[in-house]
Amino acid sequence: MKDEILAHLRYSLGKDAGHASVYDWRMALSLSLRDRMVDPWFRSTQASYEKRVKRVYYLSMEFLIGRLVEDIAANLGLVDEARAAMADLGQDYDLLVKDEPDAALGNGGLGRLAACFMDSLATLGIPAMGYGIRYEHGLFEQDFVEGKQVEKAETWLAQRHAWEFERPEVSYQINFGGHVQHQDGKAKWHPHETVLATAYDTPVIGWQGKWANTLRLWSARPQTEFDLASFNRGDYLAASRSEALARTISRVLYPDDTTETGKELRLKQEYFFTAASLQDLLRRFLSDHDNIRDLPEFAAIQLNDTHPAIAGPELIRILVDRHGLGMVESIELARRCLGYTNHTLLPEALERWPEWLLGRVLPRHLEIIRAIEDSQQGQHPGSPRILDHGNVNMGELAFIMAHKVNGVSALHTDLVKSTVFADLHRIHPTRIVNQTNGITPRRWLHGCNPALSTLITREIGDAWPADLDQLRGLRSLAGDKGFLTEFRAAKRTNKERLSNWVSEHCGVAIDPDAMFDIQIKRIHEYKRQHMNILETIALWNDMHANPTAGWTPRVKIFGGKAAPGYHVAKEIIHLINDVARVINTDPVTRDLLKIVYPPNYNVTMAEMLIPAADLSEQISTAGKEASGTGNMKFALNGALTIGTLDGANVEIREHVGAENFFLFGLTAEEVVERRKHPGYARAAIEQSPRLQKVLAQIAEGRFAPQDPGRYHGLVGNLWDHDHFLVSCDFDSYFDTQRRADEAFKNPATWSAMALHNTANVGWFSSDRTVQGYARDIWHVRSALGATLEQSA
Ligand SMILES: *Cc1c(COP(=O)(O)O)cnc(C)c1O
Repeated sequence: MKDEILAHLRYSLGKDAGHASVYDWRMALSLSLRDRMVDPWFRSTQASYEKRVKRVYYLSMEFLIGRLVEDIAANLGLVDEARAAMADLGQDYDLLVKDEPDAALGNGGLGRLAACFMDSLATLGIPAMGYGIRYEHGLFEQDFVEGKQVEKAETWLAQRHAWEFERPEVSYQINFGGHVQHQDGKAKWHPHETVLATAYDTPVIGWQGKWANTLRLWSARPQTEFDLASFNRGDYLAASRSEALARTISRVLYPDDTTETGKELRLKQEYFFTAASLQDLLRRFLSDHDNIRDLPEFAAIQLNDTHPAIAGPELIRILVDRHGLGMVESIELARRCLGYTNHTLLPEALERWPEWLLGRVLPRHLEIIRAIEDSQQGQHPGSPRILDHGNVNMGELAFIMAHKVNGVSALHTDLVKSTVFADLHRIHPTRIVNQTNGITPRRWLHGCNPALSTLITREIGDAWPADLDQLRGLRSLAGDKGFLTEFRAAKRTNKERLSNWVSEHCGVAIDPDAMFDIQIKRIHEYKRQHMNILETIALWNDMHANPTAGWTPRVKIFGGKAAPGYHVAKEIIHLINDVARVINTDPVTRDLLKIVYPPNYNVTMAEMLIPAADLSEQISTAGKEASGTGNMKFALNGALTIGTLDGANVEIREHVGAENFFLFGLTAEEVVERRKHPGYARAAIEQSPRLQKVLAQIAEGRFAPQDPGRYHGLVGNLWDHDHFLVSCDFDSYFDTQRRADEAFKNPATWSAMALHNTANVGWFSSDRTVQGYARDIWHVRSALGATLEQSA
């Protein structure tokens, strides 16, 4: 490996060892690891072709990948070798690992799910391709200036991306605008604008390197490169205008995980990557099949949320306008290929495009959507409408065009059936299925938590990363004092690592013996970070009044970004930072309570924080969090959850046992009921002297003395509206936190409870989730047997 690295340094990077920078070494290491993926990758592709197997096409607007060096080295079983090679070369492997920028091509849970699925598909040997956009700028970088979020453009592609292969020959025309001409019963789309989608491929290698799939990301470029005539006339701007316009499409990731609708560029991004992906998969299919009607037997196309929902009309357009099939047959054929995953019930997050906008950007597709609507209304009179009040409802479109629609946790799927898609569910009672989300144990335990995974491997062997149910083998150790001590020591190691990092990066000293209480996720009112900070203030009040009452010392850790246009979320960030400044400098409580909020939460930060957590905050208003996957990562790493009966919390609690989970708050049904009573917030606050006091402190400017009115809006909203029922759940949350305090005082029982979490959440592996999709939606099988036969 050392020779390979040196060869890459010299021949790929053009550097000699004496002058190489950290970047050069990191690239050389990455390229040599990439080399090791190529043969298994080719073998897998070849096996898929020869066996003519059905493939999965996973269409996702986001892939929140994070760093790859360690992940790939681990999957290839090369971590020790890579480390040793770098040491021989006089380089610090850990420093190189840290030099890699996060591939942050996603906002949060949805994009991270797509990345976990890619890892599981490869590990399971399911022939699959992920399709997305190669954003030049991923999710913005967050900084705090005087406690306020400021956003900075992210520039992961400023350096070369080590893992990708550019495929200039894989390019497709993507059309926009113009008009449709109808003649002799045929439609012809005369577009106004055309850009090219060019492929960049990243191999995705599974555990132990047995199978590799492809993540194919599309980059937009102009069809005609450069207007030399304008340039020669001296009009330099005109010369590069069309180029700039085309490239804009894959320039930036929209930084809002809930309300991105209504923007023309966003619609173009969605159509851009969907249309390129469909052209690509059809080309592959037609290269060794001659009957387009066989497509559903060979292609399962999964839509990760409605972002690629235009796939339905686009596929129909190709079948009708290019292949001459009838409209009705094309709708049926397309439906047999498509599956749709719903990720949210929040009304503001359901995509709707103004009909005029969609018709302007995609005129032929609007006609086809009308045909889908007519066909649906013809077969099911009174069916919910796709076209409604001048809007195109992408949820209804995706539902009607999919043969299966899935929710992402048991509770969420029930709510999908009974709320957003209740009428469609009545018409199509077998279409909605559940596939509870999962996480890859390779990244979220084996990779991020060496202390714990070494201990686990010692006890139950090394097969668990590909068969996470084996963690059950740890259950019997919950009564083993010696083992629990080691289990606690692993956690302690991670907490020390985090303490050092926090002291270095946030300038706050925290005590590894305190309870590390962590809430990391996008900032959103439904996720209720504000309830957490209100509880923190209430706790501080009590501690300050009576510092010697035997408190459990706590460190409250927050992490997360707010969408740049989401005002309330930004106020919550500001409040947390303001409160932190006051509490962290209180000499009375200095050994009892600290708040830290490192900026720029991302996958890499998650990998450091989660293994160090004692308590995982999963406190969304019941009925609002579709699943959550952060909750699973924490439980797997031996944190206890304080949480509501929401999303996958419900199933986590069933798996780990009610006695190992701190439950509080209203249920989803009670939330709906409570909202019917006007003034519920005011009534709840008036019954809670503790909450009243906290709200009064904030309103009086206790945490922003130089700007006392800063949070009047936030506090007023809690009194008068409080749509997310912070007021109603506050006391129950506070009391449950105190139960957690009590439990934490006994390290032996706490560790046993934590172990019951790790040992019982094997079911939340994304391997299990992907197998569920393969069985219930895609009807595909592992092809691993095929490669094994071949390489034998
Ligand atoms: C897992 C993950 C999420 C999702 O977290 P939730 O708590 O489920 O919202 C978001 N961002 C990153 C970086 C993650 O790793």
